Amino acid sequence: MRSPSSRLSLSIAIALAIMAAIFIADTSTDYAVAAAGFYTVVILAVAHRLSARQLVLLASACIGLTILSFALTGFGSYRVGLINSAIGIVTIVVTTYLALKMEAARATAQEAQAQLLRVARASTLGELTACIAHEVNQPLAAIVTSGNACQRWLAQAPPNVDKAQQAVERMLGDAQRASEVIVRIRGMTRGQSLQPQAFAINPAIEEILSLSRAELERHQVDIALDLADDLPPVFADRVQVQQVLGNLVLNAVEAMSGLPDGPRTLGLATARGAAGHVLVSVSDTGGGLPSAAADQIFEAFWTTKADGLGLGLSISRSIIEANGGRIQARNQAEGGALFQFELPVVPGASA
Ligand code: ADP
Repeated sequence: MRSPSSRLSLSIAIALAIMAAIFIADTSTDYAVAAAGFYTVVILAVAHRLSARQLVLLASACIGLTILSFALTGFGSYRVGLINSAIGIVTIVVTTYLALKMEAARATAQEAQAQLLRVARASTLGELTACIAHEVNQPLAAIVTSGNACQRWLAQAPPNVDKAQQAVERMLGDAQRASEVIVRIRGMTRGQSLQPQAFAINPAIEEILSLSRAELERHQVDIALDLADDLPPVFADRVQVQQVLGNLVLNAVEAMSGLPDGPRTLGLATARGAAGHVLVSVSDTGGGLPSAAADQIFEAFWTTKADGLGLGLSISRSIIEANGGRIQARNQAEGGALFQFELPVVPGASA
């Protein structure tokens, strides 16, 4: 598998070879306009791989070759050759200008898509953290108040042990309340708004891929799809399952984009799983799971990222389990992480 930079060098090498061929054809004939037309095809073909500066350099090289070819062409009318070359140069300039505009528009659209994907994730996490913060803050504040009171009762001479004990009891009660709130919120994220339906898993995966495409292109990640075509429909909340997929894809991209040059491949596969289930696999060629932490990654607030919340996988696991499935992760022998989850198929369908 080729690395992103070797692919770029290969495209530039091919473009230069084609330009050399056009130059030879242009110099040995007097069809100057036709040759310029071929240069524009080269410019358009590589425009999405080059930076604006590189594209302008390439276009300048095409113009240089057109002028050189005109100077070297020894036959035909001088006037016709001059006009043809001038038209050719204008065509190259206009095409390059349009290609630059098109690439700028494409970059803006890609950025917007990437933002959409991040917002989709952040809004789920944001809602959950705000909810936890609000609900848990009340008993925590009460514990602090009781703790202060307890200190005062104990600081008296003689200490008022009875009052202090009551304050400690209130603190224990509030701590219990805080932990019940957490259990309740976990229950809520599992049970609330679950809307299971029968749906085909492959198109749901393809939708997430097309939403992530800009992000994948930006980080020069290749996609290896291996979707089984004879799967029964699964029975789960489609939106929630797509949230899990989006989260796993973003984690994979983040794991690969941190690495220096090397193949970056996101693998997405579907297959028949354990009886009555469909198996979905998301793999990457990143640095793999943090060693000795394969179990912890699914815990809430466990993260190795400076700006991570550590909630994505914990929510993903809640979602998959609420939908009657299981999720697990491990490192692949050839490097990179592999996340797999199972979803139940529609009752009555054979998997
Ligand atoms: P966050 O992305 O905010 O850190 P997650 O719950 O999604 O939260 O992930 C928890 C941790 O699991 C990450 O910080 C990272 O250490 C690890 N992890 C998740 N996905 C991958 C992956 N594809 N490759 C390697 N490590 C991963």
